[in-house]
Amino acid sequence: MAESRVSAAVRRLVADRAAHRCEYCLALETFSPGGYCIEHVMPVAAGGGSEPANLAFACAGCNAFKSDKTTAVDPVTGRSFRLFHPRRDRWARHFAWSADTLRIDGITGIGRCSAAALKLNRPALVNLRRLLFREGLHPPGP
Ligand SMILES: [Zn+2]
Repeated sequence: MAESRVSAAVRRLVADRAAHRCEYCLALETFSPGGYCIEHVMPVAAGGGSEPANLAFACAGCNAFKSDKTTAVDPVTGRSFRLFHPRRDRWARHFAWSADTLRIDGITGIGRCSAAALKLNRPALVNLRRLLFREGLHPPGP
């Protein structure tokens, strides 16, 4: 959101830093049918700034589902957790691929609430992972 506040140079920095994949669902920009966004991890509406430390590279779906949320409910415990923060948190600490690599499983409260809120296993993503897996392009490397 608020793409206009981010210069082309900062956009390039954020995309390159993320290796051109969504920092939430890890989908590569190259294979995505939708556009990617420079996302404010702490939303502007909640006082987040447009400095690179508050920006993440996100696919249109993750960006839309995250919207201005900063917390969500863990579907397992019913407790509220803050959402995954791509700048402060390591993805593999909070998420893991399912055995067939088609689904992202939250392995912490932060991971589970983020996977649910951002719908990290929405059908389009699962279908894309299935196709990329057949081509040897999924799951993405570290
Ligand atoms: Zn995504």
